[in-house]
Amino acid sequence: MSLQNITDEQFEKCVCGCKGLTNVRRDTYIENRLNYVEGIGQLLPECYERIYGPSLIEEVRAKLWLQDIGIVL
Ligand SMILES: [Zn+2]
Repeated sequence: MSLQNITDEQFEKCVCGCKGLTNVRRDTYIENRLNYVEGIGQLLPECYERIYGPSLIEEVRAKLWLQDIGIVL
């Protein structure tokens, strides 16, 4: 068995269609996963960012702006 096969079996593939291999093991609890979308599946960080990034960045910007004017969430 090659190393590639072991990796393929133990780690989740990105569900966006890029077929990229994530660094999330299949036996990882959903609550402990990053870039996991309920009902969709595991995404690579860059794919997650591509799909969900803009809104997240807007959220961070809004928070930073609130901190700027003295409101801490
Ligand atoms: Zn992907």
